[in-house]
Amino acid sequence: MDCNRCDEEAVMHAAYSGAHLCADHFRESVEKRVRRRVRRDDLVPRDASPENPQTWVIGLSGGKDSVVLTKILHDTFAEDPRIELVGLTIHEGIEGYRDKSVDACVDLAADLGIRHELVSYADEFGIEMDDVVEDDPENMAACAYCGVFRRDILERYADDLEADLLLTGHNLDDEAQTALMNFLEGDVAQIAKHFDASLGPLSEREEQDDFVPRAKPLRDVPEKEVALYAHLEDLPAHITECPHASEAYRGEIQQLLYDLEENHPGTRHSILSGYEELAGIAAEEYNDDATSADLQACAECGSMTTREVCRKCSLLESLV
Ligand code: SF4
Repeated sequence: MDCNRCDEEAVMHAAYSGAHLCADHFRESVEKRVRRRVRRDDLVPRDASPENPQTWVIGLSGGKDSVVLTKILHDTFAEDPRIELVGLTIHEGIEGYRDKSVDACVDLAADLGIRHELVSYADEFGIEMDDVVEDDPENMAACAYCGVFRRDILERYADDLEADLLLTGHNLDDEAQTALMNFLEGDVAQIAKHFDASLGPLSEREEQDDFVPRAKPLRDVPEKEVALYAHLEDLPAHITECPHASEAYRGEIQQLLYDLEENHPGTRHSILSGYEELAGIAAEEYNDDATSADLQACAECGSMTTREVCRKCSLLESLV
């Protein structure tokens, strides 16, 4: 089958749009979607200038999503003195898995010539995820510990690096899954928080004084297309799955969405766009009772939390 836009052979078919695209037009379409999202989410503020440059910290795990996001943002802003990109890689201490993806991050940052910071759970907290999984003092899934520690490092380093924005490589499948999970849990306050934390246009979000705003400009691109883009661009992405991956519920939702998408192409797009609209309305409703009012400094580490001692400190306490 030929590309819809030229005579070259198509390398992909998107059932949700009917498009058949060759390699060049496919790459162009992915890049266009990311740039459009950067614009729609108002990620470059009007007062950004060479004298007032913006620091964008990208959570660079070495997986295909963060690698593709970093590459496209680099190509978009390489000549733009208003934006400085910094890759932030976290080593969780997972033998045979993270070492290879750290290598991918180091290679990519060197290829693109962007600043790169590498931090580890071992240096930051004196723990390694392999040992946490072995001890498991709270009888929880590995990802439940890991997510708390990762969030803490991302927020702290974004703050230390004086970031204006913290970007992550969540793709369309990730975000449609999260949207559906939040719907099914019926937690409207969580949906409102999701909008303010990372989804809505920056200009429409409730300002959160103590947190660097987040953004997910890859969220219009399906996971398979991100993988194809990484392959066509020959990017140094690491694709092995973490041996501790354990989000069983998310796996069920993922399968459900695959089936729905197969029979009703476009389902992920419509879930996410409807969810974002509703999340915006929920955020307006909940902003008056905003969570920031309930925040206080953690008695142990001083980070902002709704508890006396933050979740990270109480988990670390249980691990010693
Ligand atoms: Fe951590 Fe879970 Fe991701 Fe593995 S899959 S790196 S344990 S969050």
